[in-house]
Amino acid sequence: MAEITRMQFLRGDLKGDKIPFRPPWAIPEQYFVDFCTRCDQCIEACFDELIIRGRGGYPQMDFNRGGCDFCEDCLNVCDAGALKKLPLSGDLPANNNNSNNREALSESADEARSESFLPPWHIKASIDLNNCLSMNATICRSCGESCDDEAIKFNLKLGGIAEPVLNTETCTGCGACLSVCPVQAVKLNNVSINKAVA
Ligand code: SF4
Ligand code: SF4
Ligand code: SF4
Repeated sequence: MAEITRMQFLRGDLKGDKIPFRPPWAIPEQYFVDFCTRCDQCIEACFDELIIRGRGGYPQMDFNRGGCDFCEDCLNVCDAGALKKLPLSGDLPANNNNSNNREALSESADEARSESFLPPWHIKASIDLNNCLSMNATICRSCGESCDDEAIKFNLKLGGIAEPVLNTETCTGCGACLSVCPVQAVKLNNVSINKAVA
């Protein structure tokens, strides 16, 4: 049996296939559990109450409560460095078993001189067209109307069908379209790890 990492154990994820959605600007998952002190500051800072205590006491997003507006309030209260803007360029340390890595990760953020940072996360929405009401000739534009970034357009087709088309380039993964879908046809995916998230 493959070795179970501490993070997997804390997540109750013995197979290693469940990665929770962390708050925006969370450092890579392999460091997150090490840096996060479970102080709850980010949870308390989120006015929209989008961050909850997940398994092991670590914070994770609950998009059933709404979408993130990237206000940075959670980022700004995280003194532990678990939520941190990291520069676009620069190598991350290879693992977290070395105290030098903590220093290196910290330095890579502090030395960011430009405005070029990694995005707050790598989440993208997707729509299950089999379940979508609009694809079944029922008028619904809920997801599109909730998207401030206009990442969802509807293509009119024969038979009164309007197919939702999601532009993954403009989708910020804010999650605003998730809770408004009456039939749970919208999913969020962590594209950087290419795995659906529980
Ligand atoms: S503020 Fe930072 S250290 Fe505290 S729970 Fe949130 S992510 Fe963890
Ligand atoms: S960026 Fe703002 S809205 Fe989004 S999770 Fe953090 S505090 Fe909440
Ligand atoms: S399509 Fe993307 S940007 Fe638009 S509401 Fe959904 S998650 Fe947010």
